Amino acid sequence: MRPDDKKEVAPEAIPSTIAIDGPAGSGKSTVGQRLAQALGYLYFDTGVMYRAVTWLALNRGVSVGDERVVSELAERIPIDVEPLTEDDGRQFTVKADGEDITWSIREPDVEANVSRVSAYPAVRAALSAQQRRIAGRGRIVMVGRDIGTVVIPGADMKIFLDASVEVRARRRWSEEQARGTQRPFQEVLEDIRYRDRIDSTREVAPLRPAADAWVIDSTGLSVDEVLRIVLDGLTEAQPDSN
Ligand code: C5P
Repeated sequence: MRPDDKKEVAPEAIPSTIAIDGPAGSGKSTVGQRLAQALGYLYFDTGVMYRAVTWLALNRGVSVGDERVVSELAERIPIDVEPLTEDDGRQFTVKADGEDITWSIREPDVEANVSRVSAYPAVRAALSAQQRRIAGRGRIVMVGRDIGTVVIPGADMKIFLDASVEVRARRRWSEEQARGTQRPFQEVLEDIRYRDRIDSTREVAPLRPAADAWVIDSTGLSVDEVLRIVLDGLTEAQPDSN
């Protein structure tokens, strides 16, 4: 079967809530989106919510170090993730307070500050509550850092995608180049190392695989190969699915 084929498995045999966690550049967004497409599920990338709050702080003249004000922004400003509105390579449209910020949240200043913002407990509480509500509808592939551990610990399937830091930085750097952002590779590598450190050492919801997560190392693998492994595993994990 090709990875982009629809699975021919009884629908009730396929996990309804699928959590994919992993560090930056592990491939979780691309794999998650393709998996959701193959299954006909909703794809939800929770990283955009943390990025949106960071963007809001930076663009409203709020210091990202001001935990109280940043937390208020997360609690007060509506963040929407909507289906495609433009055919410019985006996976979905992200809006904060009605403004389209889909591409602005990928800029280096957001990238450099998002881990700090996402370590604030009240920011996490506000965003996790929204994510849990969305996950509750089922038929979803939800992607992030703490989905299997905190947001939906009862997910039907939990995947933790990983890869070496050099390979992850190379992927991120190539994505940035394709979007026209010119940054030296070394700078992207340092940013990823910095985010890895903050994300995995923060007190609330640190980045780590859930005890019952399926850990996949994508270092030497293409997106197609990872997707194939996941789709095969999805069926094998189900005793009744043949
Ligand atoms: O996945 P992405 O790189 O877009 O995430 C941006 C940042 O948002 C991460 O580095 C992390 O600090 C934060 N994040 C998080 N919890 C999630 C998703 C993202 O803390 N569930």
